[in-house]
Amino acid sequence: MSEPANKLESYPWHRALWTSLTRDRTRLVHALLLNGQIGLGKSTFATQLSTMLLCENPNQHSHACGSCKSCLLVSAGTHPDLKRVEPAEEGRVITVDQTRALVEFMTLRPHIAQRKVVILRPAESMNTNAANSLLKILEEPPLGNIFILVSHQPAKLPATIRSRCSRIEFKLPPRHDGIDWLQTQEVSVADAAVLLGLAGGAPLRALELDQTGVIGQREQLLVDLEALRAGTADVVACAARWQKIGAEFSLAWLQRLVADMVKIDMISQPESFLANHDLACRLQALGEELDLKQLYGFADAVSQARDLLASPVDNLLLLEDILIRWFRVTRKIILPTE
Ligand SMILES: [Zn+2]
Repeated sequence: MSEPANKLESYPWHRALWTSLTRDRTRLVHALLLNGQIGLGKSTFATQLSTMLLCENPNQHSHACGSCKSCLLVSAGTHPDLKRVEPAEEGRVITVDQTRALVEFMTLRPHIAQRKVVILRPAESMNTNAANSLLKILEEPPLGNIFILVSHQPAKLPATIRSRCSRIEFKLPPRHDGIDWLQTQEVSVADAAVLLGLAGGAPLRALELDQTGVIGQREQLLVDLEALRAGTADVVACAARWQKIGAEFSLAWLQRLVADMVKIDMISQPESFLANHDLACRLQALGEELDLKQLYGFADAVSQARDLLASPVDNLLLLEDILIRWFRVTRKIILPTE
């Protein structure tokens, strides 16, 4: 995820939260739970907050000075009073050994700052033993130390952990603010609106999608679906293109496109409910003459194909199979076995 150019500068949608949190220092209790959907910069906020809490000379707006010894050490990732706890690899758990090590870290005196700070993320990746070992110290961290837990899915945390933390909610910024910010990141206004919709309103997620070229790839998938429906494309060539884009990516997007076609079929004014609202007209044309039963049948087949991606089945064959299904269902080719 992209950090603000100046690490001491916050994302615009953080400002009000920062001001309210730092103005009322009583809210900076020993355990904070920063929660909200992915792509809102919670981890950046946690880093900025910990930098400020360790800084020797925070400015009048409660921002870290950026130049004291503590600030320089945080920036270099070597501050002895700041500990970050994350899974060893993405998707893995935070283990009990990791939380035991941080309990030990918290019980020793600070080296150079007035307190110690721990950032633990994503908190929901702690396994049960790890969470249990954290509980006691979370209630009474010694010496005014502060835990900052970051969570995208706080409902997955044990209630005992949640109840010991002060919750700081990160909400989606208004849509126009998200679009304005994306433009400052050199995203065109037209793409910004689409990307923000695809990212569920989270600006950093939208920027990440932009950087992976998602709009161009989605367009290729749609063009192939249209051409197959018109009978002007070849299944084998399309499947090869989709594999090059990525089988998982292609099938995940196919699922979203078909889900939108279902909504278009079911709802009288579906635009605001569509993930791909910019494609409403093309998706309507694509799903025309298909009834709900056919769309649901095809959606099921896509879902099953996605499940099979993890198995040893050849991905190219899976893509060919799903595109043949699309070709047949849109060209009204019914086989005797069906
Ligand atoms: Zn400083």
